[in-house]
Amino acid sequence: MSEALEILKKYWKHDNFRPLQNDIIDTVLSGKDAFALLPTGGGKSICFQVPAMINKGMCLVVSPLVALMKDQVANLQSRDIKAIALTGGIKSNEMIDLLDNCQFGNYKFLYLSPERLQSDWIMERIKNLDINLIAIDEAHCVSQWGHDFRPAYLKISKLKTHFPTVPFLALTASATPRVREDIINDLALEKPVLYQQSFSRKNIAYMVFEAEDKLFKIEQILKKNPQPSIIYVRNRKSCLEISSHLQSLGFKSTFYHGGLTTKVKDKNMQLWMEEKAQVIVATNAFGMGIDKANVKTVIHIQLPENMENYYQEAGRAGRNGEKAFAVLLSSPSDSIQAENQFVKNLADKDFLNAVYRKLNTYFQIAYGEGIDEKFSFNLNHFCIKYNFPVLKTYNAIQFLDRQGILTMTQEFSAKISLQFIITSKEVLRYLSLNPHDEEIMLAILRTYPGVYEMETAFNSALIAKKSNKTEKQVLNVLDKLHEKQIIDFHSKNNDASLTFNEIREDERTISRVSKYLEKQNDLKRAQLKSVLHYVKEDNTCKSKLILAYFGEKDSDNCGICSYCIAKKPKSKDLKSLSNKIIALLENEELSSRDLQNRLNTSSDTLIFVLQELLANEQIAVQANNTYILKS
Ligand SMILES: [Zn+2]
Repeated sequence: MSEALEILKKYWKHDNFRPLQNDIIDTVLSGKDAFALLPTGGGKSICFQVPAMINKGMCLVVSPLVALMKDQVANLQSRDIKAIALTGGIKSNEMIDLLDNCQFGNYKFLYLSPERLQSDWIMERIKNLDINLIAIDEAHCVSQWGHDFRPAYLKISKLKTHFPTVPFLALTASATPRVREDIINDLALEKPVLYQQSFSRKNIAYMVFEAEDKLFKIEQILKKNPQPSIIYVRNRKSCLEISSHLQSLGFKSTFYHGGLTTKVKDKNMQLWMEEKAQVIVATNAFGMGIDKANVKTVIHIQLPENMENYYQEAGRAGRNGEKAFAVLLSSPSDSIQAENQFVKNLADKDFLNAVYRKLNTYFQIAYGEGIDEKFSFNLNHFCIKYNFPVLKTYNAIQFLDRQGILTMTQEFSAKISLQFIITSKEVLRYLSLNPHDEEIMLAILRTYPGVYEMETAFNSALIAKKSNKTEKQVLNVLDKLHEKQIIDFHSKNNDASLTFNEIREDERTISRVSKYLEKQNDLKRAQLKSVLHYVKEDNTCKSKLILAYFGEKDSDNCGICSYCIAKKPKSKDLKSLSNKIIALLENEELSSRDLQNRLNTSSDTLIFVLQELLANEQIAVQANNTYILKS
C-alpha cells in the first residue's frame, strides 16, 4: 500500500482516493507544481492535506474565507492533526503567539488569508518556518476575471521567491479558460501539471422554464418529485414566505438563511437532513458543508448571481448519481428587473469614497488611525443615518472587504430577535387597550408575518422608519411588551462587525483600490450577461451551455435538459407521422425531400421516423434514393 493511502486510511478512514486525488498527490510529492480544477465535492483538501502529512515540515494554506478556514482547521483537529488559522480580526500580539506555536509546536497546517501575507513582519516569520507545501485554495481569486477577485492574491507569488524549491498547488472548483491562464501566470506556477475533472454531471437534467406563476410551477414539480428538494431564493424574506406557502399546500417545508439564530438554523437544517421536511427554502447562505446525497431537485426561483454559483448550487442535486433536476424558473420581468436593480446598485468611485469617509466618521476614526480596530456595525442604521441606499452601500463595503481594507463579518446575528407568545386575538385586545402602541405593533406584524410561530430577527431601525417613530420609542414598546409577557425577546449588540485592517488615509486608500472598481463592475455586468445567456439561449443544450462556460467546448447534447427534451419528438406524433408516410408510399415511391414537402415536419424528425421504418423493414430505399413500401 502506498504511503499516501496509508495516511488516508489512518486519518480520514477512507479506503480509496477519489478520481485524480492520487495523481495530484504524487505530483506534489515529486516536488512539482500542480493546478487542480476539481468541481465542488471533488475532495480538494485531501490533495494537499495528505502529502503534507507524509513529508516533514508543515503546509501553508492560503484561503480567502474565514469560515472555510475555521471549518478545515476544526476538521483537521478532530483527526488529531495540529492545525492553526490566522484569520482577520486577530490582534498583532496574539498573532505573534500563534506564529511561535507554529514554529515550535510541531504544527502541520498553517491557514492564512492572502491579506496576512501582505504584512512584511508576518512574511518574515513565515520565511523561518519549515514549509513542505504551499496550497492556494480558491485560486480563481487571483484573477480579475474570476467571480471573487481579491487583489491580495496577486502577492502570493512573492512566496515563490522565498520558497523556490517548495511545490505549489493551486486549487479551484471553477475556472473559465481566461481565469485559468491568470492563475498560472499570476501565481507564478512553474510548469504546473494540470489536473482537470470535467464539469459534466450526466445525471443532472438542467431545466429552464419560463413561468409567470412560479409558485404554481414549483407545486407541480414538487408533487411529481416528492423527494428531498432545495429551493434557492435571493432574499431572506422570500424564504419564509415561500416556505409558508408550500406548507399551506400540504408540503413539509422549512427554510434557512443567514439572519436566523444558530439554534433555528441547526433545527431547520436537521429537519431537512432527516427528511422530516421534503423542502428547504434557502438563500445562498445554505450550502457550505451540506452533504446530502439524495437531493432530487434544486430549484432557483430568481436569477442566480453568476454561473459559478449556479453550477455549485444546482450541483447539490443528484450526488448519489441518480437522475436529478436543476430547475431555473424565469419570467420575462426577471431580466429587466435584474438589469435595473443591478446597474443601480453598482458603486462608483465617488460613492465608494463617500461610504469610506462616513464609516470613519461613524466610528470616529481619526486620520492615520483605525488599524486592527473592531466595531459593531448595523448596516441599516448606518444607511439611514447618512441617507445611503442599503444594497449599494453593502456592495461598496463588500468591495472594501475584498480589497482587504476592512473585514466585514457577515454573521448578521440580528440585533434583536423576538417572538409573540400570545395569540393574535389577544394581541388585538391589547391594542384596543393600548392604542398608543398600535403603529409600532402593526409595523412589526406586517414586516414579520412569522413572528407568531418563531423567533424572528428584528430590525428596530426599520420598524422605527415604517411606524414613523424613533428607534428608542420602538425599543421602549418592546420592553413593555416583554414585561407584560406578550413577547419573548433577546437582544445582542450588533448585526455585523467591521475590523479596519489599515490606517485611515482617505483619498490615498480609495484611489489605490478604485482602479479595481471599474474592472469589478465590468465583471459583474459580464456575469449577468452570462446568466441571461444561459436562460435565454433557446437553441442550445443547457448542459452544453454550462460546460462551454467552463471552457469545455466539445460536449454532446445531454439528451435530458429542457432544450433536449423539447427537441425530442413525442412518441404520439411519431406514430402519426409514420402512418402518414406509409399512406403516401402506398400510392407512389417518394424521396425524403418529396416526403418533407408533403408532410409538414422537420427533417430531423422525418429522418428519425424513416430510419425506424427501415429498421422494422416496413419500407425500403432504392438505388435512386426513393422509398417504397416493403410487401
Ligand atoms: Zn441537453
